[in-house]
Amino acid sequence: MQVGTVDFLMSTNKQYIGRFAPSPSGPLHFGSLVAALGSYLQARAERGTWLVRMEDLDPPREMPGAADDILRTLEAYGLEWDGGIMYQSQRHEAYQAQIEAWLDDQQAYYCQCTRKQIKLAGGFYPGSCRDLRLGAAGNAIRLKVDTPVLAFNDLLHGHISIPAPLAAEDFIIRRRDGLFAYNLAVVLDDIEQGITEVVRGADLIEPTGRQIGLYRLLGQPEVRYLHLPLAVTENGNKLSKQNHAPAIDKTNPRPALIAAMGFLGMQPPVDLVSSSVRDILLWGTAHWQVANLPATTAITLAHSAPSSG
Ligand code: GLU
Repeated sequence: MQVGTVDFLMSTNKQYIGRFAPSPSGPLHFGSLVAALGSYLQARAERGTWLVRMEDLDPPREMPGAADDILRTLEAYGLEWDGGIMYQSQRHEAYQAQIEAWLDDQQAYYCQCTRKQIKLAGGFYPGSCRDLRLGAAGNAIRLKVDTPVLAFNDLLHGHISIPAPLAAEDFIIRRRDGLFAYNLAVVLDDIEQGITEVVRGADLIEPTGRQIGLYRLLGQPEVRYLHLPLAVTENGNKLSKQNHAPAIDKTNPRPALIAAMGFLGMQPPVDLVSSSVRDILLWGTAHWQVANLPATTAITLAHSAPSSG
């Protein structure tokens, strides 16, 4: 073993495991680059491990080829991950086994309510099917929420409260079309991968209470959360495939990388853009500080933002 490798291993922080978990609904855009870069820099600055998990949980919303395209884009941007990639499409057995255990314990139940019925009942699911003992056919599966999580601490935003009706709602863990719910998959996978800290976009603040509730129910150690500001368009929408956010340029990564650092409150020197991608990321790792992040959940991008590639 080379001396350099020993140094590296000794300086690795085995207590920190972070991740980037894209959904392959389209190519990476500036908003997803911010989430990838923020989670990468936080993990690297902590000398921790950074994993990538492909959240291919919802085939109708996926774009053929997007998963590979995302991985090639991360490579072009120098965002090298540790270990293999976990694919949610290969985790169905684990999700189903957990759901069956909860059904057996009556911690979960089948529900026949439609969206329309819930809307009419005031917008939050009132637990109508809890004790009906319905069968599987055509029904969703909900988890009984007996102890709502009403607040959590975010490393950037501090104390975040969750409105009681939302926190107390029995939520869906498997949809009526048979697809597994995001909250279930993300927590079972984060546990399986030993994740210690979740760094992701602020659009996921809302489901965080449910996710913490799952850790508690499963008796697993909870993770820390850092929700990065979200890049939004001038009309307040999150950058997404639905609102035609352009793909970031794989052939010219440096300007978008520098712009993403600026978005995350860093002040890269002007000549950094002419350095290699590797050196840009080394600069970022050395200068990364959570305290420099804008303490906001959304930042509006001007038309001229480099997301146009
Ligand atoms: N797959 C989710 C998304 O792309 C992110 C999940 C997470 O980071 O917890 O929005």
